[in-house]
Amino acid sequence: EAKAAGRGTRVVFAPAMLAAQVAEASLTQDLHGAVGRGEVVVEYQPVVDLTTGRVDGVEALCRWEHPVHGRISPATFVPLAERSGLIDEIGAFVLTAALRDAEVWAVAEGRDVSVGVNVSAHQLTGGKILAAVPSGRRGRTQLLLEVTESTLVRADVLPVLDELRRRGVRVAMDDFGTGQSSIAALRVMPVDVLKLDRAFTVDIATDARAAGIVRAVAAMAHELGLPMVAEGIETTAQHHALRDIGCGLGQGFLLARPMDAAATGAFLTRSPLLVGAR
Ligand code: C2E
Ligand code: MG
Ligand code: MG
Ligand code: MG
Repeated sequence: EAKAAGRGTRVVFAPAMLAAQVAEASLTQDLHGAVGRGEVVVEYQPVVDLTTGRVDGVEALCRWEHPVHGRISPATFVPLAERSGLIDEIGAFVLTAALRDAEVWAVAEGRDVSVGVNVSAHQLTGGKILAAVPSGRRGRTQLLLEVTESTLVRADVLPVLDELRRRGVRVAMDDFGTGQSSIAALRVMPVDVLKLDRAFTVDIATDARAAGIVRAVAAMAHELGLPMVAEGIETTAQHHALRDIGCGLGQGFLLARPMDAAATGAFLTRSPLLVGAR
């Protein structure tokens, strides 16, 4: 912002910018070793069939329990982790935890469990992730890697994603509709699942334009044979609008909040997993 304001006003904003930079540097410093100290935890949010209400799988979402600042959202610290390269360590930790927890639930329920794990571009470049994921299917666990469209269109991650898909890993295009190249990316990058960004869900029941766009996206997903997941469902009106449009799956506080592993296991026992939903 200070930059955009031009040279004259730049100095006015400099202290605030400096403070922000110092805060970021300090937080990044704290992030070193956070995994080893047990400060990074994984929660899971169920993905629900919007027609039957049954649970289709879960998405792993990491949180940082900072010793001083308390719980910090991934929206805040994942960008720091990406800039500092720490995302590789954090991402590997989340992946391992998610695969381990999902297999426990799959065995307990005697069903297949799909577990979504968000991955950053940094984790995919150079193929480091290939060592961690020999197969997308382990026991009854099906791994779904959630990748944003800005990552998907990068030439250097394409071969890695191709190899992962050959190994049976499924790939979701996350936050669909917020990037600059959603449809172009869909054309060149074979993905298995489309996750519609929360921005569309917010307006769906009140804004005819938003509903029109989602209807068209649902038709496209159907045409391409891609299951579609709507993010951020908070009201019954949104749930019903999305279901009626033909969006098969959804996530959101209305259906279930992200919860720790123990609570997720209990939730899955109460709400039977849907088998063969895809
Ligand atoms: P995302 O993958 O799009 O995840 C969905 C976000 O929406 C999560 O935020 C979730 O808690 C939130 N959410 C779910 N239902 C609702 C709802 O009904 N209303 C609202 N307002 N929000 C809802 P969260 O957990 O803060 O994660 C934010 C983002 O951080 C994620 O967006 C993802 O891009 C990233 N992230 C999370 N965990 C990881 C990770 O392990 N690795 C990487 N690289 N990124 C991660
Ligand atoms: Mg995601
Ligand atoms: Mg998303
Ligand atoms: Mg999102």
